Amino acid sequence: MPKTSNFSALKKLLSKPKDVVIVTHWSPDGDAMGSSLGLYNYLKNKKHSVTVIVPNDYPDFLNWLHGNNKVVNASVSGLQAAKKIKAADIIFCLDFNSLSRIGELGKEIAGTTAVKVIIDHHQQPEDFADYLLHNVKSSSTCELIYDFIQLMGDTKKIDKKIAECLYTGIMTDTGSFRFPSTSAKTLKITAALVEAGANNSEIHNRIFDDNTEDRLKLLGHALVEKMVVLKEYNAAYISLSNEELSRFNFKKGDTEGLVNYPLSIRGIKFSVFIVEKDGIIKMSFRSKGKFDVNTFARQYFSGGGHKNAAGGASNLSLEATVNKFLGTLPLYKKELIGQ
Ligand code: 5GP
Ligand code: MN
Repeated sequence: MPKTSNFSALKKLLSKPKDVVIVTHWSPDGDAMGSSLGLYNYLKNKKHSVTVIVPNDYPDFLNWLHGNNKVVNASVSGLQAAKKIKAADIIFCLDFNSLSRIGELGKEIAGTTAVKVIIDHHQQPEDFADYLLHNVKSSSTCELIYDFIQLMGDTKKIDKKIAECLYTGIMTDTGSFRFPSTSAKTLKITAALVEAGANNSEIHNRIFDDNTEDRLKLLGHALVEKMVVLKEYNAAYISLSNEELSRFNFKKGDTEGLVNYPLSIRGIKFSVFIVEKDGIIKMSFRSKGKFDVNTFARQYFSGGGHKNAAGGASNLSLEATVNKFLGTLPLYKKELIGQ
């Protein structure tokens, strides 16, 4: 069962204008930005003073989201972010549940007396908040923001701006409504968002038909030159170095979704994307069926996420990280082949 605290006390708190900060995770994705800006627009309409803070930049294809031009990027405007956090009455932490996922901001948030609210759907939430709206069965944090607005008794107040932000996160986190996390409830909420004015076809175009020529060529390079299929494990991986990214004029977001391609090969149950970005190795893990990549990412690559989609990092070189990953596979052979 989802853990839900006593939200009527929070509703009471929000009945008068407050200074609110909304923070989301490192390298924000569609759900992180959609939920943050969806909640931002809702709380702004309720006359609160609201600031969305991100730890670092996010892809250009999310820049059309309503309220985007007011977002404070802490890696550019650290002082402004710190000031807002200090002055906040309430801090919402969206789409993450461990303060280590937001870098320096985590320490600043831990040090305030502001009321803290986590709204999130990742596994194993840390215990740092006063209110927790958490459900691993939710398709997305955007779905939970809809639940939150419902708990506040305000579904009728969802306007086109809020609806388009929330639609975006549900669409991106469900792989356009195809992952098993897409429930009947998800689709009902999605329908309500379309009724509230979200232009579904237009949003799809803005997110998915916004490629540059370079991005598609990088995808081609990754699939033709770099994808390694390990049939004996039903696994596949792609690794990309800094040099390869620069060769294709890499921009933030260009490798988003790349990890899903190997997983679309018949029989493949486990796909890994390993990328070197500014000396840091980031990893994306995806699986189909029983293989639990959340546990795998936690165990070997100080990461986490969901059962079928997780991320992690490594402080080894790109080559050593690939070898470490390859070294783990024999331990999971039975599990990966047996499904
Ligand atoms: P992605 O591969 O798209 O970056 O992330 C997949 C999922 O894993 C997302 O839900 C994301 O929030 C989560 N995730 C990505 N990287 C990390 C990480 O380093 N630590 C944890 N705990 N979760 C991560
Ligand atoms: Mn999410």
